[in-house]
Amino acid sequence: MKIVVTVKLVPDTNAAKRIDPATKRLVRTGLETVLNPFDEYAIEAALQLKEKLGGDTTVTVFTMAPETGKETIRKALAMGADDAVMLSDAGLEGSDVWATSYAMAQALKKTGFDLLIAGGLADDGNTGGVPGALAEYLGVPALTNVRKIEEAGDGKIRAQRETDSGYQVVSGPLPSLITVTMAVGEPRYASLKGIMGAKKKTIVTLMLADLGLDRAVGTDGAKTEVLEISAPKPREKARVVEAADGASGAQAIFDFLREKKLI
Ligand SMILES: Cc1cc2nc3c(=O)[nH]c(=O)nc-3n(C[C@H](O)[C@H](O)[C@H](O)COP(=O)(O)OP(=O)(O)OC[C@H]3O[C@@H](n4cnc5c(N)ncnc54)[C@H](O)[C@@H]3O)c2cc1C
Repeated sequence: MKIVVTVKLVPDTNAAKRIDPATKRLVRTGLETVLNPFDEYAIEAALQLKEKLGGDTTVTVFTMAPETGKETIRKALAMGADDAVMLSDAGLEGSDVWATSYAMAQALKKTGFDLLIAGGLADDGNTGGVPGALAEYLGVPALTNVRKIEEAGDGKIRAQRETDSGYQVVSGPLPSLITVTMAVGEPRYASLKGIMGAKKKTIVTLMLADLGLDRAVGTDGAKTEVLEISAPKPREKARVVEAADGASGAQAIFDFLREKKLI
């Protein structure tokens, strides 16, 4: 079985971030690039499945990122993925979710897969829109919020989906796309052997010219525009109510909630 994991490269999740007011984009200069934390769980799920299935099962990591991300993607190879595919092209700059998903889908058609595993959310963009759009462009079903893959093979997958009240057992055909939750298990650390071995693993780079796209991507292909960005308002200072007794204290709380239109 060929498993492909989509992995976004994101700025260090703990670093202070700054938005360029002119471009309304995140300033990435000087920020370390890391694997999107949710995608580490997707890699873990893929490696667990490979271990379970054995045979000729392979795990490929796929990213759309600038070529400078090559060393970061090696961290996914050090965890145990077999190889990587990078879609890197200056023409992709300015892609919104629509253009990103379209370009990624065309590249994934070239790569091919039986099971495509994505994280549910990117730490920087935070839309959660890419996996659904990928499934649509690729014409495959999407099984979201998977906490456990019960079985996969012989043209079908059976998995447990996390819900607010418990979980559902769902099945679908292969090829399919799944998104995973953190319940799949803590991502493994790369061993020294894994880190050394990753240096020799193949990273294939695809460019836009390799894809034969029939519509624009990048800034020209974006259908959405960021109009305004603002930081959350600082919290107001807490109001301390000095009440002579319980009744006047309760009245003060009531008046406060009514003033805020909460009752
Ligand atoms: C007008 C506009 C212009 C933009 N210009 C840029 C730009 O120039 N540069 C830029 O970096 N961003 C840009 N963005 C942001 C970019 O569109 C999003 O980061 C991208 O569409 C992914 O969305 P997301 O981060 O919300 O991912 P989500 O949908 O939250 O990600 C969910 C999952 O999808 C997969 N995934 C998502 N993105 C990738 C990826 N690139 N590679 C592999 N897997 C992935 C991962 O498995 C991830 O866990 C722009 C956005 C807009 C609206």
